Amino acid sequence: MKRIKVNLDKQSSLSHEIYIGHNILDRMGLVIAKSNLAHRYSVITDSNVSALYGEEILGVLKEVNVKADLIEFPAGEASKNMETVLAIVRELINRGIDRSSALIALGGGVTGDITGFIASIYMRSIPCIQVPTTLLAQVDSSIGGKTGIDLPEGKNLLGAFSQPQSIFIDLRFLETLPDNEFINGLSEVIKYGIIDDVDLFTLLEEKSDAIRCRDPHILQAIVERSCKIKKAFVEIDEKDVGLRRILNFGHTIGHAIEAASGYTISHGNAVSAGMIASARISEKMKHLSSEDRGRIQQLVRAVGLADHIPASISTEGIIAKTRTDKKKEGDSIHFVLLKKIGMPFINGSVEEALIRETIEELKK
Ligand code: ADP
Ligand code: ZN
Repeated sequence: MKRIKVNLDKQSSLSHEIYIGHNILDRMGLVIAKSNLAHRYSVITDSNVSALYGEEILGVLKEVNVKADLIEFPAGEASKNMETVLAIVRELINRGIDRSSALIALGGGVTGDITGFIASIYMRSIPCIQVPTTLLAQVDSSIGGKTGIDLPEGKNLLGAFSQPQSIFIDLRFLETLPDNEFINGLSEVIKYGIIDDVDLFTLLEEKSDAIRCRDPHILQAIVERSCKIKKAFVEIDEKDVGLRRILNFGHTIGHAIEAASGYTISHGNAVSAGMIASARISEKMKHLSSEDRGRIQQLVRAVGLADHIPASISTEGIIAKTRTDKKKEGDSIHFVLLKKIGMPFINGSVEEALIRETIEELKK
Protein backbone atom coordinates (compact mmCIF):
# COMPACT_ATOMS: atom_id res chain seq x y z
CA MET A 1 0.00 0.00 0.00
CA LYS A 2 1.50 3.30 -1.16
CA ARG A 3 1.05 6.53 0.78
CA ILE A 4 0.84 10.00 -0.71
CA LYS A 5 0.72 12.97 1.64
CA VAL A 6 -1.52 15.94 0.78
CA ASN A 7 0.07 18.95 2.50
CA LEU A 8 -2.37 21.78 3.13
CA ASP A 9 -2.41 25.01 5.04
CA LYS A 10 -3.20 24.05 8.63
CA GLN A 11 -5.36 27.12 9.12
CA SER A 12 -7.89 26.29 6.47
CA SER A 13 -7.86 22.51 6.67
CA LEU A 14 -5.96 19.44 7.65
CA SER A 15 -3.30 17.66 5.69
CA HIS A 16 -4.09 14.04 5.06
CA GLU A 17 -2.92 10.82 3.44
CA ILE A 18 -4.00 9.07 0.27
CA TYR A 19 -3.48 5.29 0.50
CA ILE A 20 -3.38 3.38 -2.80
CA GLY A 21 -3.09 -0.32 -3.49
CA HIS A 22 -4.73 -3.52 -4.59
CA ASN A 23 -6.87 -5.25 -1.99
CA ILE A 24 -6.15 -2.83 0.85
CA LEU A 25 -9.43 -2.95 2.80
CA ASP A 26 -7.96 -5.03 5.64
CA ARG A 27 -5.13 -2.56 6.05
CA MET A 28 -7.62 0.28 5.84
CA GLY A 29 -9.46 -1.27 8.79
CA LEU A 30 -6.27 -1.33 10.81
CA VAL A 31 -5.42 2.29 9.96
CA ILE A 32 -8.93 3.42 10.94
CA ALA A 33 -8.86 1.40 14.17
CA LYS A 34 -5.50 2.88 15.14
CA SER A 35 -6.49 6.43 14.26
CA ASN A 36 -8.96 6.90 17.13
CA LEU A 37 -10.71 9.40 14.90
CA ALA A 38 -14.22 8.56 16.11
CA HIS A 39 -16.15 6.33 18.47
CA ARG A 40 -18.34 5.13 15.69
CA TYR A 41 -18.64 5.30 11.91
CA SER A 42 -21.47 5.49 9.44
CA VAL A 43 -20.71 4.13 5.98
CA ILE A 44 -22.71 6.03 3.34
CA THR A 45 -23.07 4.23 0.02
CA ASP A 46 -25.38 3.87 -2.99
CA SER A 47 -27.59 0.88 -3.72
CA ASN A 48 -25.22 -0.68 -6.33
CA VAL A 49 -22.07 -0.37 -4.26
CA SER A 50 -23.90 -1.49 -1.14
CA ALA A 51 -24.90 -4.75 -2.85
CA LEU A 52 -21.32 -5.36 -4.00
CA TYR A 53 -19.23 -4.21 -1.06
CA GLY A 54 -21.50 -3.18 1.84
CA GLU A 55 -21.22 -6.39 3.85
CA GLU A 56 -17.52 -6.64 3.17
CA ILE A 57 -16.65 -3.19 4.51
CA LEU A 58 -18.75 -3.72 7.63
CA GLY A 59 -16.95 -7.06 8.13
CA VAL A 60 -13.54 -5.42 7.75
CA LEU A 61 -14.40 -2.81 10.40
CA LYS A 62 -15.94 -5.35 12.75
CA GLU A 63 -12.79 -7.46 12.51
CA VAL A 64 -10.80 -4.62 14.09
CA ASN A 65 -13.52 -3.74 16.63
CA VAL A 66 -14.55 -0.53 14.94
CA LYS A 67 -18.22 0.17 15.50
CA ALA A 68 -19.94 0.91 12.18
CA ASP A 69 -23.26 0.78 10.39
CA LEU A 70 -24.36 1.49 6.84
CA ILE A 71 -26.80 3.90 5.21
CA GLU A 72 -27.81 3.40 1.59
CA PHE A 73 -29.37 5.74 -1.00
CA PRO A 74 -30.53 5.04 -4.58
CA ALA A 75 -27.62 4.98 -7.09
CA GLY A 76 -27.37 7.70 -9.72
CA GLU A 77 -26.70 11.40 -10.22
CA ALA A 78 -30.44 12.07 -9.71
CA SER A 79 -29.86 11.33 -6.00
CA LYS A 80 -27.36 14.17 -5.64
CA ASN A 81 -29.91 16.54 -4.14
CA MET A 82 -31.21 18.06 -0.92
CA GLU A 83 -33.86 15.35 -0.44
CA THR A 84 -31.16 12.67 -0.27
CA VAL A 85 -29.10 14.83 2.08
CA LEU A 86 -32.07 15.28 4.43
CA ALA A 87 -33.03 11.60 4.30
CA ILE A 88 -29.48 10.58 5.23
CA VAL A 89 -29.18 13.25 7.92
CA ARG A 90 -32.43 12.08 9.57
CA GLU A 91 -31.14 8.52 9.49
CA LEU A 92 -27.89 9.67 11.14
CA ILE A 93 -29.88 11.40 13.88
CA ASN A 94 -32.13 8.34 14.38
CA ARG A 95 -29.12 6.14 14.79
CA GLY A 96 -27.50 8.43 17.33
CA ILE A 97 -24.58 9.57 15.21
CA ASP A 98 -23.05 12.51 17.09
CA ARG A 99 -20.02 14.76 17.07
CA SER A 100 -17.78 11.92 18.19
CA SER A 101 -18.71 9.95 15.06
CA ALA A 102 -17.34 10.04 11.52
CA LEU A 103 -18.64 9.23 8.03
CA ILE A 104 -17.13 6.90 5.45
CA ALA A 105 -18.05 7.62 1.81
CA LEU A 106 -18.00 4.30 -0.06
CA GLY A 107 -18.76 4.79 -3.73
CA GLY A 108 -18.30 6.93 -6.82
CA GLY A 109 -18.29 10.69 -7.20
CA VAL A 110 -21.95 11.02 -6.31
CA THR A 111 -21.48 9.25 -2.96
CA GLY A 112 -18.29 11.19 -2.25
CA ASP A 113 -19.95 14.54 -2.98
CA ILE A 114 -23.07 13.86 -0.91
CA THR A 115 -21.21 12.31 2.03
CA GLY A 116 -18.53 14.99 2.11
CA PHE A 117 -21.20 17.67 2.03
CA ILE A 118 -23.17 16.09 4.88
CA ALA A 119 -19.98 15.67 6.93
CA SER A 120 -19.19 19.36 6.41
CA ILE A 121 -22.52 20.48 7.93
CA TYR A 122 -23.75 17.68 10.20
CA MET A 123 -23.63 18.98 13.79
CA ARG A 124 -21.36 21.77 12.52
CA SER A 125 -19.11 19.20 10.82
CA ILE A 126 -17.73 15.77 11.57
CA PRO A 127 -14.80 13.97 9.88
CA CYS A 128 -15.20 12.10 6.60
CA ILE A 129 -13.09 9.31 5.11
CA GLN A 130 -13.27 8.83 1.34
CA VAL A 131 -13.24 5.32 -0.13
CA PRO A 132 -13.72 5.95 -3.87
CA THR A 133 -14.89 2.98 -5.96
CA THR A 134 -15.03 4.42 -9.51
CA LEU A 135 -11.99 5.37 -11.58
CA LEU A 136 -13.31 8.93 -11.85
CA ALA A 137 -13.63 9.25 -8.08
CA GLN A 138 -10.24 7.60 -7.45
CA VAL A 139 -8.26 9.89 -9.73
CA ASP A 140 -10.29 13.06 -9.40
CA SER A 141 -13.33 13.77 -7.24
CA SER A 142 -12.24 12.15 -3.96
CA ILE A 143 -9.15 14.39 -3.87
CA GLY A 144 -9.34 18.12 -3.26
CA GLY A 145 -12.16 18.57 -0.77
CA LYS A 146 -14.90 19.72 -3.15
CA THR A 147 -18.26 18.52 -1.89
CA GLY A 148 -21.79 19.39 -2.88
CA ILE A 149 -25.13 18.63 -4.43
CA ASP A 150 -27.10 19.66 -7.51
CA LEU A 151 -30.07 22.04 -7.57
CA PRO A 152 -32.79 22.18 -10.21
CA GLU A 153 -31.02 25.39 -11.36
CA GLY A 154 -27.71 23.63 -12.01
CA LYS A 155 -25.08 21.14 -10.91
CA ASN A 156 -22.95 21.47 -7.79
CA LEU A 157 -24.51 24.79 -6.84
CA LEU A 158 -24.66 24.02 -3.12
CA GLY A 159 -21.55 22.77 -1.39
CA ALA A 160 -18.44 23.40 0.61
CA PHE A 161 -14.71 22.94 0.52
CA SER A 162 -14.17 20.28 3.15
CA GLN A 163 -11.07 18.10 3.12
CA PRO A 164 -11.40 14.39 3.89
CA GLN A 165 -9.67 12.89 6.90
CA SER A 166 -8.01 10.33 4.63
CA ILE A 167 -8.56 8.65 1.25
CA PHE A 168 -8.29 4.90 0.67
CA ILE A 169 -8.06 3.88 -2.99
CA ASP A 170 -8.50 0.14 -3.49
CA LEU A 171 -7.88 -0.73 -7.15
CA ARG A 172 -9.79 -3.96 -6.69
CA PHE A 173 -13.06 -1.98 -6.82
CA LEU A 174 -12.36 -1.27 -10.49
CA GLU A 175 -12.85 -4.95 -11.35
CA THR A 176 -16.63 -4.68 -11.02
CA LEU A 177 -16.99 -1.27 -12.64
CA PRO A 178 -19.10 -1.29 -15.84
CA ASP A 179 -17.06 -0.55 -18.99
CA ASN A 180 -18.68 2.81 -19.66
CA GLU A 181 -17.90 3.98 -16.11
CA PHE A 182 -14.31 2.81 -16.42
CA ILE A 183 -13.79 4.64 -19.73
CA ASN A 184 -15.49 7.69 -18.22
CA GLY A 185 -12.66 7.96 -15.66
CA LEU A 186 -9.92 7.59 -18.29
CA SER A 187 -10.79 11.04 -19.63
CA GLU A 188 -9.39 12.66 -16.47
CA VAL A 189 -6.27 10.47 -16.61
CA ILE A 190 -5.60 11.60 -20.19
CA LYS A 191 -6.19 15.18 -19.03
CA TYR A 192 -3.45 14.82 -16.38
CA GLY A 193 -1.05 13.58 -19.04
CA ILE A 194 -1.89 16.53 -21.29
CA ILE A 195 -1.65 19.26 -18.64
CA ASP A 196 1.23 18.01 -16.55
CA ASP A 197 3.05 14.86 -17.53
CA VAL A 198 4.11 14.01 -21.06
CA ASP A 199 5.59 10.72 -19.78
CA LEU A 200 2.17 9.70 -18.44
CA PHE A 201 0.69 10.65 -21.81
CA THR A 202 3.24 8.49 -23.63
CA LEU A 203 2.59 5.59 -21.22
CA LEU A 204 -1.13 5.86 -21.99
CA GLU A 205 -0.38 5.80 -25.72
CA GLU A 206 1.88 2.76 -25.44
CA LYS A 207 -0.36 0.81 -23.06
CA SER A 208 -3.82 1.74 -24.27
CA ASP A 209 -4.71 -1.93 -24.92
CA ALA A 210 -3.54 -3.07 -21.47
CA ILE A 211 -5.44 -0.17 -19.91
CA ARG A 212 -8.66 -1.15 -21.65
CA CYS A 213 -8.14 -4.70 -20.32
CA ARG A 214 -7.63 -3.16 -16.84
CA ASP A 215 -4.19 -4.66 -16.34
CA PRO A 216 -3.67 -4.20 -12.56
CA HIS A 217 -0.02 -3.09 -12.83
CA ILE A 218 -0.76 -0.40 -15.38
CA LEU A 219 -3.83 0.70 -13.41
CA GLN A 220 -1.77 1.08 -10.26
CA ALA A 221 0.77 3.17 -12.17
CA ILE A 222 -1.74 5.50 -13.82
CA VAL A 223 -3.98 5.95 -10.76
CA GLU A 224 -0.97 6.74 -8.59
CA ARG A 225 0.42 9.29 -11.04
CA SER A 226 -2.98 10.87 -11.50
CA CYS A 227 -3.43 11.25 -7.74
CA LYS A 228 0.01 12.83 -7.40
CA ILE A 229 -0.79 15.37 -10.11
CA LYS A 230 -4.21 16.23 -8.70
CA LYS A 231 -2.87 16.58 -5.16
CA ALA A 232 -0.05 18.84 -6.30
CA PHE A 233 -2.55 21.27 -7.87
CA VAL A 234 -4.73 21.11 -4.75
CA GLU A 235 -1.76 21.83 -2.48
CA ILE A 236 -0.87 24.95 -4.42
CA ASP A 237 -4.43 26.21 -4.81
CA GLU A 238 -6.76 24.54 -2.35
CA LYS A 239 -9.75 26.79 -2.97
CA ASP A 240 -9.60 26.82 -6.77
CA VAL A 241 -8.81 30.48 -7.30
CA GLY A 242 -5.68 30.23 -9.44
CA LEU A 243 -3.50 27.41 -10.69
CA ARG A 244 -6.11 24.72 -9.99
CA ARG A 245 -8.01 26.13 -12.98
CA ILE A 246 -5.56 24.29 -15.21
CA LEU A 247 -7.44 21.16 -14.10
CA ASN A 248 -10.36 22.59 -16.00
CA PHE A 249 -8.67 21.73 -19.30
CA GLY A 250 -11.33 20.40 -21.69
CA HIS A 251 -14.05 21.18 -19.17
CA THR A 252 -15.32 24.59 -20.36
CA ILE A 253 -16.59 23.10 -23.61
CA GLY A 254 -17.00 19.68 -21.93
CA HIS A 255 -19.43 20.99 -19.29
CA ALA A 256 -21.27 22.91 -22.01
CA ILE A 257 -21.65 19.73 -24.12
CA GLU A 258 -22.91 17.79 -21.09
CA ALA A 259 -25.45 20.46 -20.19
CA ALA A 260 -26.58 21.09 -23.79
CA SER A 261 -27.17 17.33 -24.18
CA GLY A 262 -29.42 17.36 -21.10
CA TYR A 263 -26.77 15.18 -19.41
CA THR A 264 -27.31 12.30 -21.81
CA ILE A 265 -23.59 12.43 -22.67
CA SER A 266 -21.28 11.20 -19.90
CA HIS A 267 -18.80 13.55 -18.23
CA GLY A 268 -15.90 11.53 -19.69
CA ASN A 269 -17.15 11.70 -23.28
CA ALA A 270 -18.03 15.38 -22.98
CA VAL A 271 -14.59 16.20 -21.55
CA SER A 272 -12.76 14.11 -24.16
CA ALA A 273 -14.53 16.03 -26.94
CA GLY A 274 -13.86 19.24 -25.00
CA MET A 275 -10.14 18.40 -24.79
CA ILE A 276 -9.99 17.82 -28.55
CA ALA A 277 -11.80 21.12 -29.11
CA SER A 278 -9.32 22.94 -26.85
CA ALA A 279 -6.40 21.30 -28.66
CA ARG A 280 -7.84 22.39 -32.02
CA ILE A 281 -8.38 25.94 -30.78
CA SER A 282 -4.76 25.95 -29.52
CA GLU A 283 -3.62 24.76 -32.95
CA LYS A 284 -5.72 27.32 -34.80
CA MET A 285 -4.26 30.08 -32.60
CA LYS A 286 -0.77 28.81 -33.55
CA HIS A 287 0.19 27.70 -30.05
CA LEU A 288 0.09 23.92 -30.55
CA SER A 289 1.58 21.75 -33.31
CA SER A 290 -0.80 19.70 -35.44
CA GLU A 291 1.25 16.65 -34.42
CA ASP A 292 0.45 17.12 -30.72
CA ARG A 293 -3.20 17.82 -31.52
CA GLY A 294 -3.25 14.57 -33.53
CA ARG A 295 -1.74 12.58 -30.64
CA ILE A 296 -4.47 13.78 -28.29
CA GLN A 297 -7.18 12.85 -30.76
CA GLN A 298 -5.60 9.45 -31.36
CA LEU A 299 -5.31 8.60 -27.66
CA VAL A 300 -8.90 9.61 -26.96
CA ARG A 301 -10.02 7.25 -29.73
CA ALA A 302 -7.70 4.44 -28.61
CA VAL A 303 -9.25 4.22 -25.14
CA GLY A 304 -12.79 4.37 -26.50
CA LEU A 305 -13.75 7.94 -25.57
CA ALA A 306 -15.72 10.30 -27.82
CA ASP A 307 -13.66 12.26 -30.36
CA HIS A 308 -16.61 14.20 -31.75
CA ILE A 309 -19.80 15.97 -30.72
CA PRO A 310 -23.12 14.41 -31.77
CA ALA A 311 -24.70 16.49 -34.57
CA SER A 312 -27.99 16.48 -32.67
CA ILE A 313 -26.62 18.88 -30.03
CA SER A 314 -27.07 22.48 -31.10
CA THR A 315 -23.89 24.49 -31.50
CA GLU A 316 -25.60 27.63 -30.19
CA GLY A 317 -26.77 25.61 -27.18
CA ILE A 318 -23.17 24.67 -26.39
CA ILE A 319 -21.94 28.24 -26.91
CA ALA A 320 -24.68 29.58 -24.62
CA LYS A 321 -23.66 27.13 -21.90
CA THR A 322 -19.97 28.11 -22.12
CA ARG A 323 -21.11 31.68 -21.38
CA THR A 324 -22.87 30.58 -18.18
CA ASP A 325 -20.02 28.36 -16.96
CA LYS A 326 -19.34 28.94 -13.24
CA LYS A 327 -15.66 29.35 -13.94
CA LYS A 328 -16.33 32.40 -16.05
CA GLU A 329 -15.08 35.74 -14.76
CA GLY A 330 -16.98 38.83 -15.85
CA ASP A 331 -17.35 38.65 -19.61
CA SER A 332 -14.24 36.71 -20.52
CA ILE A 333 -14.19 32.96 -20.64
CA HIS A 334 -10.97 31.57 -19.20
CA PHE A 335 -9.86 28.86 -21.55
CA VAL A 336 -7.08 26.42 -20.79
CA LEU A 337 -5.03 26.10 -23.99
CA LEU A 338 -1.84 24.23 -24.84
CA LYS A 339 1.62 25.12 -26.07
CA LYS A 340 2.46 21.44 -26.21
CA ILE A 341 1.51 18.23 -24.44
CA GLY A 342 2.49 18.83 -20.80
CA MET A 343 2.48 22.62 -21.19
CA PRO A 344 -0.89 24.34 -20.65
CA PHE A 345 -1.65 28.02 -20.20
CA ILE A 346 -4.73 30.13 -19.46
CA ASN A 347 -6.07 32.42 -22.15
CA GLY A 348 -8.78 34.97 -21.42
CA SER A 349 -9.58 35.96 -24.98
CA VAL A 350 -10.70 33.14 -27.21
CA GLU A 351 -13.01 34.53 -29.91
CA GLU A 352 -16.49 33.09 -29.83
CA ALA A 353 -16.35 32.66 -33.62
CA LEU A 354 -13.36 30.34 -33.22
CA ILE A 355 -15.19 28.26 -30.62
CA ARG A 356 -18.23 28.05 -32.92
CA GLU A 357 -16.13 26.98 -35.93
CA THR A 358 -14.34 24.32 -33.84
CA ILE A 359 -17.57 22.87 -32.44
CA GLU A 360 -18.99 22.67 -35.97
CA GLU A 361 -15.87 20.81 -37.15
CA LEU A 362 -16.16 18.31 -34.28
CA LYS A 363 -19.68 17.47 -35.37
CA LYS A 364 -18.50 16.15 -38.76
P1 ADP B 1 -18.98 8.97 -10.78
O1 ADP B 1 -18.00 8.28 -9.91
O2 ADP B 1 -18.79 8.65 -12.21
O3 ADP B 1 -19.05 10.43 -10.50
P2 ADP B 1 -21.33 7.57 -9.56
O4 ADP B 1 -20.99 7.78 -8.16
O5 ADP B 1 -22.76 7.82 -9.94
O6 ADP B 1 -20.49 8.50 -10.54
O7 ADP B 1 -20.96 6.09 -10.00
C1 ADP B 1 -21.27 5.63 -11.28
C2 ADP B 1 -22.03 4.33 -11.24
O8 ADP B 1 -21.14 3.24 -10.93
C3 ADP B 1 -23.13 4.26 -10.20
O9 ADP B 1 -24.22 3.56 -10.75
C4 ADP B 1 -22.50 3.45 -9.08
O10 ADP B 1 -23.47 2.77 -8.31
C5 ADP B 1 -21.64 2.49 -9.83
N1 ADP B 1 -20.45 1.98 -9.11
C6 ADP B 1 -19.61 2.71 -8.34
N2 ADP B 1 -18.56 1.97 -7.97
C7 ADP B 1 -18.72 0.74 -8.52
C8 ADP B 1 -17.94 -0.45 -8.52
N3 ADP B 1 -16.76 -0.52 -7.91
N4 ADP B 1 -18.43 -1.52 -9.18
C9 ADP B 1 -19.61 -1.43 -9.86
N5 ADP B 1 -20.37 -0.33 -9.92
C10 ADP B 1 -19.94 0.75 -9.26
ZN1 ZN C 1 -13.93 16.22 -14.91
